[in-house]
Amino acid sequence: MRYAVLADIHSNLEALTAALGALEAERIDRFLCLGDVMGYGADPIACLERLRSCDPLVVGGNHDLACVGKLDLAWFNDAARAAVMWTRDQLGFTDLDWLRQLPLTATEGPFMLVHGTLPHPERFEYLVDLAQAVDAMAACRTLMCLAGHTHLPCVIEYDRTRRRIERILTAPAELTDVTFRNDADGVRYLVNPGSIGQPRDGDPRASFAVIDTERRMLRVHRVRYDVERAARKIRQAGLPEFLADRLAIGR
Ligand code: ZN
Repeated sequence: MRYAVLADIHSNLEALTAALGALEAERIDRFLCLGDVMGYGADPIACLERLRSCDPLVVGGNHDLACVGKLDLAWFNDAARAAVMWTRDQLGFTDLDWLRQLPLTATEGPFMLVHGTLPHPERFEYLVDLAQAVDAMAACRTLMCLAGHTHLPCVIEYDRTRRRIERILTAPAELTDVTFRNDADGVRYLVNPGSIGQPRDGDPRASFAVIDTERRMLRVHRVRYDVERAARKIRQAGLPEFLADRLAIGR
């Protein structure tokens, strides 16, 4: 099976369209989405439609939950809160219902999906240290825990028998061809595909992953998109200027 893993689309239609265009050549069997489809960008409805056309398995992110009142707005900084409130006003009942039914975690094949971290998906913690990564992999009941939220692509390999982290891959060159081992080898992986709609690793290109479970290969892809157009729409919608500016620098 070939899986496409998308996260943190953040209502950026230009970025999502570019990513899905690049994925057409990848013979994808199944789409997985790690949440935060909503927030920050100017095209929430079109992004929901494009994403749903791929019939993906989706978990909810903090922005998705906030749009339907399932997460307190006090949780967010000013720009993010303004974007959540603006997004709420755009969405109709069908889209709100779709967002409302998103689970916090989902399991399919060798993957457990979560937006923030395991074992507490409802806290939407940012994975910033290795102790959290080990906790997440210990709580994961499948080969890989797929997580978003930080907007930073990475792959971490953990050996459960030796109880140690074997590999931490964050450099772009390391993430282009990652081979992974089997469940039977006693390993666990934490995989973050990076963000489609608001990358924060200094590379403004949309980021997503393709995982081939037969060949046991994982690749993080980066694709250019029309950043200027996405930024212009954010300004025209009256969303905070900062949300437009940051797209060009990928921070
Ligand atoms: Zn996000």
